[in-house]
Amino acid sequence: MSLELPDLPFGKDALEPHMSANTLDFHHGKHHNAYVVKGNELLEDAGLKADSLEDLVIEAKKAGGPLFNNVGQHYNHSFFWNCLSPNGGGAPSGDIAAKIDEAFGSYDDFKKEFVAAGVGQFGSGWVWLAAEGGKLKIVKTANADTPLTDGMTPILVADVWEHAYYLDFQNRRPDFLSCFLDNLVNWDFANENLAKA
Ligand code: MN
Repeated sequence: MSLELPDLPFGKDALEPHMSANTLDFHHGKHHNAYVVKGNELLEDAGLKADSLEDLVIEAKKAGGPLFNNVGQHYNHSFFWNCLSPNGGGAPSGDIAAKIDEAFGSYDDFKKEFVAAGVGQFGSGWVWLAAEGGKLKIVKTANADTPLTDGMTPILVADVWEHAYYLDFQNRRPDFLSCFLDNLVNWDFANENLAKA
């Protein structure tokens, strides 16, 4: 199984002014692509067997090292693009809305916790909404890690590596995370993932 850079599910300038075409040029075209190219080089010799990208991530995690770093980054970034929408942001609807209220009390409380977790992730990493045992939780991961390899179902993710926001927000990671929730987050994708959890 080899990795393939997915097309962005929106036009490169469709998220402006919240996420610029320049950011996406670098983030998707350079950073994500580099993980795909390097991951495929390493997979050639690894002999891992997997039926899906999710299985491959779990197998690569067991192998660890640079192989997992590149395969995990590919999975996380592919997931992240689907978490963004030109028509996204704001309070959720559908099943995810009720599940968020159940787990966090209210959407506003969820938002505070999600932004605080993303701000509190030291260095490079990710902040996730994930489902475990039928309940939602916020999970932080470093580098290429994903809650998928801990038996959870990823529902949403925000990339908090500096390359995700530095061109648009400089060092203002809290503003990037608020903007992600207010203007970009794709709740339809979250509902699709919740239905599989
Ligand atoms: Mn990234």
